[in-house]
Amino acid sequence: MNGRFSRLLAIAGPALILSAGAVVLGLRSVERLDRIIGASTHVGLVLFSILILAGIAAALVSYYEYHGFGRQDGVIRRGPSKPLVAITFDDGPNPKYTPKILDVLREKGVRATFFCVGLHVKKYPQVARRIVAEGHDIGNHTYGHRDLAPSTRRVVVNQIRRGADAIFSVTGVDPKLFRPPRGLYSEAVRRIVVEEFGLQMVLWTVSALDWRRLSPGQIVRRVARFVRPGAIILFHDSGALLRREGGKRTSTVEALPLVIDYLREAGYQIVPVSEMLRHLADSELEPRRILERA
Ligand SMILES: [Zn+2]
Repeated sequence: MNGRFSRLLAIAGPALILSAGAVVLGLRSVERLDRIIGASTHVGLVLFSILILAGIAAALVSYYEYHGFGRQDGVIRRGPSKPLVAITFDDGPNPKYTPKILDVLREKGVRATFFCVGLHVKKYPQVARRIVAEGHDIGNHTYGHRDLAPSTRRVVVNQIRRGADAIFSVTGVDPKLFRPPRGLYSEAVRRIVVEEFGLQMVLWTVSALDWRRLSPGQIVRRVARFVRPGAIILFHDSGALLRREGGKRTSTVEALPLVIDYLREAGYQIVPVSEMLRHLADSELEPRRILERA
């Protein structure tokens, strides 16, 4: 839910605070040093620059905590460069909108991926079972939609385990895909998800921003503008700006058939994330095969 905004806050917040801190400290040091050494502003300026650089470095560290740089094991941000896309839904199941979304997907013959909140799976088990019965992927989106990056190890492990348990007890599926709430994670969280639980951490390439009350037309235009081969598109079937549940998803339901038609006309095949990962594994093997032949 509201991924882009939180991510922006997560990056901009600490970066701004640290930079402001560095500037204040820097200016005060310049003043003080000037007073001690006399008019030698040189030293003050050097120190000031060092502090500014430290601020920038801290902002980069903060960015890394949330997004990482380059390739990280077990973190999937997009599929292979093939005409494939995956449609994903976060925060459900929801008793009102998820069935409508499932109706659209069934009518269009599309299989999607639902990252479910354990608490909602328990609350609406029929809907969760229908997701699985109709051939969609079901992924773990924690038990209570807690932000994992600032949480203790105990909370992170608990949220993942209880989320998986809820999905398993209701649907019989042991989810292999995981998406952290708001897309936020730290290296410690990545290690727990990927190395301890053996899950794939699936993020996204295009957010439909459907939590932002865009009209169906705006959602379609947004997807059309940003979709690329291998894109993972993020929608929401539940969730509100600051709550786990309660958002209005009428636009999502109305935009979905238009988005599907657009993607197909543009030559894309829509696949669940699990299938995209199989293509990804194949395409990573290809360069090796070429080398072997050479
Ligand atoms: Zn979410």
